[in-house]
Amino acid sequence: MVDKKVITELSEIVGEEFVSTKQDILLAYSVSASMASDAVLPGAVVRPVDTEQVSKILQVAARYNIPVTPRSGGSSLQEEVIPEPDGLVIELMRLDKIKLHKELRSVTVGSGVTYGVLEKFLKEHDLFLPVYPESALVCTVAGNVAVNGAGPGSSHFGCTGELVLGVEIVLPDGKIITTGSEANPYSPGPFQRYSFGPDITGLFIGSLGSFGIITKVSMKVFKRHKYYDHNTFGFETHEQAEQFMVDVKQNDINGVFTSLYEGPVLELFMDMIGEELGVPKYEWPFRTVSMTIGRVREDMMRSDAELAKKLCEKHGGHVIGISQLPYQEWNGRLWFFVRACYVHGWHWRTLYHHQTPINAHRSVEEIRDVMEKYGFLGHTAGFASGHSSFNAYPHLYFDPQDPEDEQKIRDAHKELAKTLFKTGAVPFKLAPYWADAIEGMDNYMAFLELVKKTIDPKKLMNPRVLGGL
Ligand SMILES: Cc1cc2nc3c(=O)[nH]c(=O)nc-3n(C[C@H](O)[C@H](O)[C@H](O)COP(=O)(O)OP(=O)(O)OC[C@H]3O[C@@H](n4cnc5c(N)ncnc54)[C@H](O)[C@@H]3O)c2cc1C
Repeated sequence: MVDKKVITELSEIVGEEFVSTKQDILLAYSVSASMASDAVLPGAVVRPVDTEQVSKILQVAARYNIPVTPRSGGSSLQEEVIPEPDGLVIELMRLDKIKLHKELRSVTVGSGVTYGVLEKFLKEHDLFLPVYPESALVCTVAGNVAVNGAGPGSSHFGCTGELVLGVEIVLPDGKIITTGSEANPYSPGPFQRYSFGPDITGLFIGSLGSFGIITKVSMKVFKRHKYYDHNTFGFETHEQAEQFMVDVKQNDINGVFTSLYEGPVLELFMDMIGEELGVPKYEWPFRTVSMTIGRVREDMMRSDAELAKKLCEKHGGHVIGISQLPYQEWNGRLWFFVRACYVHGWHWRTLYHHQTPINAHRSVEEIRDVMEKYGFLGHTAGFASGHSSFNAYPHLYFDPQDPEDEQKIRDAHKELAKTLFKTGAVPFKLAPYWADAIEGMDNYMAFLELVKKTIDPKKLMNPRVLGGL
């Protein structure tokens, strides 16, 4: 329960209709898109409309020592937004302003702006934010910065964090700061992240709401690609496929989305939804690389597409030539994979992580081992996610009606995090179930703890993440 006195103070800040302690409302905020995680009832939910209100709310929370969970779309999958018992959820969807800085090639959005809304807005200006998660219709840009997500577009443009120019943050004590070039009150807008000393913006990327609340985020935007080539490439060994992906990068081919699949995984999914997507039946090889090349100029796109075919053959592969798979990945933002699971009533847990492309098979091997040991169905897949990294997104499926199955999936997940860590993989956010997997990083973790203590001495901000520091 949050004290009545606190509710009165919160109501004075946001208005009565934007604070709730009703059980049905609290229930809705007790969960997220994370499956097989325990629901936790918060004590209250408050929905501010601007930065000043966020600041005043955090001052109240600090005064009464109430733990706070910042929440945007609630679409996170790794328990990052599950509240604290009797804590305060600050829902940020009402901060929905968009400001375009056309000449600076940047845009500033409030923390409630989803990718879907922003994409529609930018399209009217012939621009795009090129990294776009498949959860785009519910996931906010600020929420994706807070988790440092990735998605279609990352193969060329990197993770979401790499597109951030600056943030407006409300610190746990209610102070408001703006980072990057906009720290200068005379700045014409966001144009340079690395200003005024070290990269303070970076502190908040992937911080999962544990250092403060992002109320605005400024992102780089780009002229929309007009010319695309979609193609698929088959390989009989993982080395061939992995070396091909490395060579694509070395040769500066603009693969905006380059994903890698195991044959049986593609077979499973294409059996379910291939016809609907217009993907012809095919005997998928041991490994398939599915690639979308995007360019603003047609000659560049054609030259990249030709070179990709040559590189495929150089690495012992063959050009499959099925374009519908990468076409659907890019235009449907990979959504079809997730939809196929939902439609079939599958629940899943995922363990997003980054590998190097030439270690992609290590992830596949560890995932397969754990699936076999625990007897789960699952899938492995991933995509190039920046300069030299590969984002693997294994899903492990379980039966939500069966508590034993659910417990097993949690155990399997914990074990997998540990084994993946030992392959050299890195999480891109310190979500709760990565914390136990970390070993041999004592100085790093002690430093992180020092940062947390300095910024949030009362440990009120989303205490369940960053290993509970
Ligand atoms: C079907 C499906 C597909 C998905 N595909 C992708 C994908 O392709 N790529 C990807 O990266 N993710 C994907 N996700 C996961 C999810 O969409 C991301 O984690 C997303 O970034 C969460 O954003 P959100 O707005 O929903 O944030 P929430 O879930 O509300 O919060 C996420 C975390 O950020 C913190 N937070 C939220 N807003 C703020 C803020 N304004 N200031 C400070 N902290 C904040 C929260 O406390 C929490 O720790 C997918 C999820 C689903 C359900």
